[in-house]
Amino acid sequence: MKPPGFKRLATLAVLELCLLMVFAVGTRLGQPSASSMLVERAEPGLSVVDYQAAMTKKVGAASESRAQRNAALQNELVWTFGGKPQHGWYLYRALINRLLNNKHDVAADGFAASLARWQTNSGLSPTGVLDESTLNAMISGWQGRRLKDRTPAQPDQLMTAPASDFFDPARPVELRQVERQTYAAYQRLVAAAVGNRSLGLARHGKSELAPAERYLKIISSFRSREYQEKLRRESPNAGSAGLAVNSPHFTGRALDLYVGGEPVDTKDSNRAIQVQGRVYQWLVRNAGRFGFEPYFYEPWHWEYVGASKP
Ligand SMILES: [Zn+2]
Repeated sequence: MKPPGFKRLATLAVLELCLLMVFAVGTRLGQPSASSMLVERAEPGLSVVDYQAAMTKKVGAASESRAQRNAALQNELVWTFGGKPQHGWYLYRALINRLLNNKHDVAADGFAASLARWQTNSGLSPTGVLDESTLNAMISGWQGRRLKDRTPAQPDQLMTAPASDFFDPARPVELRQVERQTYAAYQRLVAAAVGNRSLGLARHGKSELAPAERYLKIISSFRSREYQEKLRRESPNAGSAGLAVNSPHFTGRALDLYVGGEPVDTKDSNRAIQVQGRVYQWLVRNAGRFGFEPYFYEPWHWEYVGASKP
């Protein structure tokens, strides 16, 4: 004979077990705890329906894959550079793919896997998500490969390049000076680019750019301190990144090369055109062989650092 009330007790026990299981599953999915739910529920103006919609979204975000997060962050990550807010890292995809040796789409898990390997090698947590700290680590790596010695070039280190090498063929002779080794490396780089038929560059002879070709022509090379000061006076609103007080152009080893769009305009819309171009993408993959390193923020700006990369 079962004592009276046993059935009721058993039912309660089963119910309790079910509740425990629901709670455990909810916790595992990253749902907020009961107390935080109460607080959020008490937000003014939030109806139960709104609340449920918000919670669904929240749980969805928590279970988003690393590939989905990268797909969103490439356009949405908010970060700061040069004192200005920046949006996303899509402008640096070519540089990032080169760094990660990645051929997968950003929204693919293969990209996240390549990134996680790079994060591990860089001493970062291998999340496979390109967040702000990962981007900052990449940027300090890129910046660290640029010219360190910005001692102004001495006159005997400079030579005058022919007007035909310049984006503006009427550029005056005093603005056509380049450091000697840099110019020799530039000629080797141009010869390789011209020889790569997939780039479709119009050529003159075997290894030179045709006069009418604009890509890879030099926009600006050596700039004296005096000339840089004059530029600063003429465009006082130019960003500090554009007309630096201690410019690598003083060395004669920095070249601004035409890579499409407006030659030297840092607006995102302009840089988006430049970084999608075949010539820029080729530079990212190949300029290192000729001793050139990029300035990540300005697709046109390349610095001759000498040592050839494998
Ligand atoms: Zn430059």
